[in-house]
Amino acid sequence: MKESLKQFIRAGFDSALQNGSIQAYYQPVIRTISGRLCSFEALARWVDPEFGILRPDQFIPVLEQDKRIHLLDSHIIREVCRQLRRSIDSGETPIPVSVNLSRLDFICCDIFSVVDQQVSAFQLPHDFLYIEITESILGEQEGLMHEVVDRFHEAGYQVWMDDFGSGYSSLNMLKDYSFDELKLDMRFLSSLDRRSRRILTSVIHMAKEIDIHTLAEGVETEEQFLYLRDIGCEKVQGYYFGAPMPYAKALEHLREKGVAVEL
Ligand code: C2E
Ligand code: CA
Ligand code: CA
Repeated sequence: MKESLKQFIRAGFDSALQNGSIQAYYQPVIRTISGRLCSFEALARWVDPEFGILRPDQFIPVLEQDKRIHLLDSHIIREVCRQLRRSIDSGETPIPVSVNLSRLDFICCDIFSVVDQQVSAFQLPHDFLYIEITESILGEQEGLMHEVVDRFHEAGYQVWMDDFGSGYSSLNMLKDYSFDELKLDMRFLSSLDRRSRRILTSVIHMAKEIDIHTLAEGVETEEQFLYLRDIGCEKVQGYYFGAPMPYAKALEHLREKGVAVEL
C-alpha cells in the first residue's frame, strides 16, 4: 500500500469518524426459496472528497496494525442501530443487519458490551443485529472467544461464522462453537465444476444435519443462484442481487428489482 494512503488513514481516521465520512453500506441477503430480502450485511466505507471511496481492505489493515479497529467497529454498530431505530420510527419494516467483528475487538474492548449498550440505547430487539465472526479469528484466544460468543448467545443475538471454508480449521470450529449460520464464499470455488458442486452440496447437507443455517455470498450469476437454490442453500448474497450501498439506495435498488421484504 502507498505510504501516502497509510499516512492519510492514520492522520484522518479520528476526524473521519466524527464528520460522517465513515459509513455503513448495506448489501442485501435474499432468501432463496421466496426471493425476498431477509437481512442486510453492513460493510464499512470511508467516503472521502479527495481519495473517493476507500474500501475496507485499504483501511482495515492499518487500523488493525494500530489497534484502533474496535473504534471503527463500534462506530459501524452504532450507525446500524441508529438506522434500525430510524426505520422503526418511520413505520418501515425494520430489516435485521449483520455486522463484522475483528479479532482485535475481543482484545481491545469489551465488544459484547459495546453491542449490547448500543442495542439498549436505541431500544432495539436483540434479534435485529447479527454478529459475523470469521473462522480465522476463533483459533486464537480460545477461552476468551468462547466466553464472548456465549454471552452473545445468552443475550439472544445470533452469531454467524463468516468465510466458512477459507481457513484450515473450519470443522473444529463448527464442533466447538454453536453458530446459528454459516457463510460460504462462492469465490472460494473458482468455477462451479462437478467437483466444486459436490463439495458445496455436501457442506449444505452437513450444515442441515447439525441445524445450522446456510448463506452463500459472492453470488454473481443467475446460474450460481439457481444452483444454490436447487441444493437447498437457504440464503444468498452477492452482486447478482446488489452491491453494498447506502441504506436508502439499497432499498431503492431492491424496489426497482421488485424484491419484497420478508415479514
Ligand atoms: P466479508 O465480510 O467477507 O464481506 C464480503 C465482501 O465481498 C465485501 O467486500 C463485499 O463488498 C464483497 N462482495 C459482495 N458481493 C460480492 C460479489 O458478488 N462478488 C465479489 N467479488 N465480491 C462481493 P468489502 O466490503 O470490500 O469488505 C471486505 C472485508 O472487509 C469484509 O469481507 C470484512 O471481512 C471486512 N469488513 C468490511 N466492513 C467491516 C467492518 O465494519 N468491520 C470489520 N471488522 N471488518 C469489515
Ligand atoms: Ca462478513
Ligand atoms: Ca465473507
